[in-house]
Amino acid sequence: MNTQPTTPQPAPRLIDPFAREINYLRVSVTDRCDFRCVYCMSENMTFLPKKELLTLEELDRMCSTFIGLGVNKLRITGGEPLVRRGIMNFFNGMSRHLDSGALQELTLTTNGSQLERFADDLYAAGVRRINVSLDTLDSDKFARVTRWGKLDQVLRGIEAARKAGLRVKINTVALKGFNEDEIFDLAAWCAREDMDLTFIEVMPMGDLGGEDRVGQYWSLEELRGHLATQYTLTELTERTGGPARYVRLEETNQKIGFITPLTHNFCESCNRVRMTCTGELYMCLGQEDNASLRDIMRATPEDDAPLIRAIEEAISRKPKGHDFDYSRQQEDGKMTRHMSHTGG
Ligand code: SAM
Ligand code: SF4
Repeated sequence: MNTQPTTPQPAPRLIDPFAREINYLRVSVTDRCDFRCVYCMSENMTFLPKKELLTLEELDRMCSTFIGLGVNKLRITGGEPLVRRGIMNFFNGMSRHLDSGALQELTLTTNGSQLERFADDLYAAGVRRINVSLDTLDSDKFARVTRWGKLDQVLRGIEAARKAGLRVKINTVALKGFNEDEIFDLAAWCAREDMDLTFIEVMPMGDLGGEDRVGQYWSLEELRGHLATQYTLTELTERTGGPARYVRLEETNQKIGFITPLTHNFCESCNRVRMTCTGELYMCLGQEDNASLRDIMRATPEDDAPLIRAIEEAISRKPKGHDFDYSRQQEDGKMTRHMSHTGG
């Protein structure tokens, strides 16, 4: 049971050792997925036994406790969050925090495969913006990069989301030799459909069963230069506390984001922490240090105080920044865990 009030007045704040206020929690609700993207998973993934995962009720208690501590933005991710059975019950539960005003935003990162089914329900639960990951508009290439995905299904999902009233942002991983030739098509498609677009650099997360990660890496500096051959790019000052930086393409008046953890390091303004589906709290995507909160929470079903103490203690260990580096043509700072474990 969660003994925290849903709207503490005023909300306590989580402040890390570098005076950054932590008000953004990203939660992976499952490590499973209906795709096997080549940069994210190997084809034969072993997933966690179900009993290791937080139940939906435990996820609710965990998130509600963070919200009680001042977290006002929650992003649900995975794995593929929409393949978790009963996940809409969790979203519906979180909507009480939107109603109370404690939570300002409830969002989702998805591969889009299940959106046709869930778009209306997500909107009804208070979700207003979602990120959909899509690396190519070519169905054969889509099948190759996701291994198991179908482009049509995702495009139908995006359409359903927009019809439901959800604002969609497309996330595209920049992949050398794969989507270099599609940058303009992707930008034009997003402009036409009024969707924002963010490019992401491949990060060294998890063993891919022989995939060549350094070979996949395409620097966004280069991608930006490529865009500038056809568009006028104006730097925007907008900041979201994350690693993204934005430009406007003057010709189409559209916003393009760049997530460049490798060529630039924007950790100084980091406002976020990440929780895995087993209740491990990672204070930084690029560091191994984590706090295991699940057993602490399970030990005291009627009392959140030990959990709150453990969260505060973990935040007091949040590091200054990550150590990713490809500069010597090898995967320095590589994380052994997959992105689908920590939640991208
Ligand atoms: N399944 C959902 C999806 O694909 O949007 C949510 C989880 S996925 C791990 C979240 C994001 O992480 C996706 O945009 C995906 O492209 C990105 N991602 C996965 N592995 C990555 C890697 N090694 N480097 C950079 N981005 C990665
Ligand atoms: Fe699944 Fe998302 Fe990873 Fe692709 S990036 S395998 S969709 S979790």
